Amino acid sequence: MKIYDCVIIGAGVAGMTAAIYLKRAGLDFVLLEKGVPGGQINKSSNIENYPGFKKVDGPTLAFNIYEQIENLGVVYKYGDVKEIKDSDNHKVVCTEQEEYITKTIIIATGRKPRELGLDNEKKLLGSGISYCAYCDGMLYKNKDVIIIGGGNSALEEALYIADIANKVYIVHRSSEYRADEVLIDKVNKKENIIKYFNKEVIEILENNDKFSGVKLNDESIINADGLFIYIGQIPETNFINTIDKTKDGYIVTNEHLKTTDDKIYASGDVLKKDLYQIATSIGEGALAASNVIKILK
Ligand SMILES: Cc1cc2nc3c(=O)[nH]c(=O)nc-3n(C[C@H](O)[C@H](O)[C@H](O)COP(=O)(O)OP(=O)(O)OC[C@H]3O[C@@H](n4cnc5c(N)ncnc54)[C@H](O)[C@@H]3O)c2cc1C
Repeated sequence: MKIYDCVIIGAGVAGMTAAIYLKRAGLDFVLLEKGVPGGQINKSSNIENYPGFKKVDGPTLAFNIYEQIENLGVVYKYGDVKEIKDSDNHKVVCTEQEEYITKTIIIATGRKPRELGLDNEKKLLGSGISYCAYCDGMLYKNKDVIIIGGGNSALEEALYIADIANKVYIVHRSSEYRADEVLIDKVNKKENIIKYFNKEVIEILENNDKFSGVKLNDESIINADGLFIYIGQIPETNFINTIDKTKDGYIVTNEHLKTTDDKIYASGDVLKKDLYQIATSIGEGALAASNVIKILK
């Protein structure tokens, strides 16, 4: 059976950057992705802090990077990785369909949205509840929506949807936002954004199997047509339990981005780090790849 030099798991910005470096070094590898290339940036309507682009939407940036790896001839395959096993001196990356034997692995599986954990949240996903304003915002033209959260993502997407919807209610559980000043300023200037601080959603309301509003911890109700949840992210690391992780699931590495397994590296939002951004994830993708190149050559 074929033995790859490396398998990259996840084609977000970190994984695709690693792919550019491995390909240019002439390594034989495969890039596996369970969703669409670009990962989280596909959910971002407006990126203004990535150098080289004064302003770009996430899907455009994702497509540009994807086009770059396609032109280089990177082998990109659909694959939802379920397990990593040992076999002799190699690793085996297992998806439901296939197994890939490899000398090294770069894990770049990023993060997914944290759920509120309320009763009907899963049931109403797609029926008024979403984790991506940029993907579903147009469904709420001239309607009222609620955004839960107070970080950069929540405010960015509130601003995006405020240009489409009638009213946008931002419900945040603290007394101030944890976001860039530039975003807070813009939110403060938007007349159709209504801000709730120190409030938590305790119940999701529905009508005929569709989202209809929320009940807050002071028992007040906000009626709306859509709910967008931005209360943080959790790392996608359930498929691996043989390396050190933090108690919340982030992968632990040394400064070379090597995990506690000599053959496994990690990069991007899956790492425990101070800043979860495109710029940092791209840097880590490049660093993990360059260290894999070093050990293989
Ligand atoms: C709404 C929003 C707005 C944002 N705005 C900005 C911004 O303006 N500027 C900025 O710098 N950053 C922004 N960010 C953050 C930025 O998008 C992330 O930091 C960055 O994209 C992380 O890239 P990544 O490659 O590490 O992970 P991800 O983008 O999470 O990619 C990981 C990929 O791995 C895949 N994957 C996961 N598990 C598996 C598996 N088991 N098998 C196969 N594939 C798997 C996923 O499908 C995904 O495609 C924003 C994020 C969000 C959600």
